[in-house]
Amino acid sequence: MVVDALVIGAGAAGLFCAAQAAHRGRRVAVIDHAAKPAEKVRISGGGRCNFTNIHTDPARFISNNPHFAKSALARYTPTDFLSLLKRYDITWHEKALGQLFCDGRSMLIIKMLLDELNASGVDLRLGTEVSEISKSGEEFRVETSSGTFCTACLVIATGGLSIPKMGATGFAYDVARQFGHAIVPPRAGLVPLVFSGKDKEDFAALSGISCPVRVAVGGATFDEAMLFTHRGLSGPAILQASSYWREGEPVEIDLFVGADGAQDLITAKAKRPRQTLIRALEARLPKRFIACLTARNLVPTLMGDSRLADLSHAALEAIARTLSDWQVYPSGTEGWRTAEVTVGGVDTRELSSKTMESRRVPGLHFIGECVDVTGWLGGYNFQWAWSSAWVAAQEI
Ligand SMILES: Cc1cc2nc3c(=O)[nH]c(=O)nc-3n(C[C@H](O)[C@H](O)[C@H](O)COP(=O)(O)OP(=O)(O)OC[C@H]3O[C@@H](n4cnc5c(N)ncnc54)[C@H](O)[C@@H]3O)c2cc1C
Repeated sequence: MVVDALVIGAGAAGLFCAAQAAHRGRRVAVIDHAAKPAEKVRISGGGRCNFTNIHTDPARFISNNPHFAKSALARYTPTDFLSLLKRYDITWHEKALGQLFCDGRSMLIIKMLLDELNASGVDLRLGTEVSEISKSGEEFRVETSSGTFCTACLVIATGGLSIPKMGATGFAYDVARQFGHAIVPPRAGLVPLVFSGKDKEDFAALSGISCPVRVAVGGATFDEAMLFTHRGLSGPAILQASSYWREGEPVEIDLFVGADGAQDLITAKAKRPRQTLIRALEARLPKRFIACLTARNLVPTLMGDSRLADLSHAALEAIARTLSDWQVYPSGTEGWRTAEVTVGGVDTRELSSKTMESRRVPGLHFIGECVDVTGWLGGYNFQWAWSSAWVAAQEI
């Protein structure tokens, strides 16, 4: 079959790109090895798809080239995507921190993408495996279980490695390598951190407890909730930090969330001098967590049981310093099984930031999560899928 453009991967980026290109009059086919399209959209945002973030900004994306995402994000913005939702009467709400979710189920977004596809006459082939890709002159030949496709424009939109159970593969990286592109080593992002030994034991005992923290790692800082799990730490603050974390590095946790902890304790001493230090800390952190910090001697028992009046300002300052710079050393992450995204991917140095086209191989494009651009938690990854897909669709 001869088409103007073949998109491999019927996820968020692939479906959107195909429909937008077909709207421009291009003859487009999309293939995917899965039986259903856009499975990650379906499970995203707890079933309500956090489809964008109104605070979208290139600084909220991780890439070896922090400038790469600027052009696409500026050309197709969250407002553009909201206009599309409006046309389909899909209503939404802001949950927190600019995160926009559907009022209804995420299936509404999938239905919209498929309606866009059908309205523009895109040929969608699911359950289709690719066996070989070759290029001769200006034409790509793609051998698949649904026949041979010949095209001048090939768009790779097969995502990253997270959740292999849902059909994630390293296909995009294999194609990139085949055509001489470099890969920024992929690693699991937006993923819970795991611990070993005493840490694992202590955190497991606190499993289910959550508290607000400021987490700092690799130069990034996040003020959100942290959750103890049976294997370590999770919650939005930790998921965000995981995308920046490298093996062997500490994760710095500020239990006073950037407030002046020393001043807080000194004020508490002035107001309630008979209160013990433990009681004062319990106003801020869960009781069982304080007990754990005491058992770990971060809050020495003798001090913890002392009345604030009996503790010097220097002692309170020392406790505040300890609790605002608590360093923990993860032994790893939960890995691809639970990671929401892949950090790394097709190196952006040989891609055009304006069109997503390869600078090495004319007609070859990479869009969405397979590219070395990874958003923070909160709708940024879908915005990257829409933006990168849209700019590619204007060119193919
Ligand atoms: C549990 C979970 C929740 C998430 N929630 C959110 C959220 O609320 N907001 C947000 O912004 N991001 C969220 N994300 C991230 C978001 O889902 C992805 O960043 C986004 O789906 C990437 O889109 P994509 O089209 O590039 O790749 P994908 O959506 O992964 O699509 C890739 C497609 O390619 C197909 N494919 C893979 N390999 C092959 C192959 N060899 N041959 C043929 N086809 C292949 C797959 O079957 C899939 O259909 C979440 C991720 C997960 C795992």
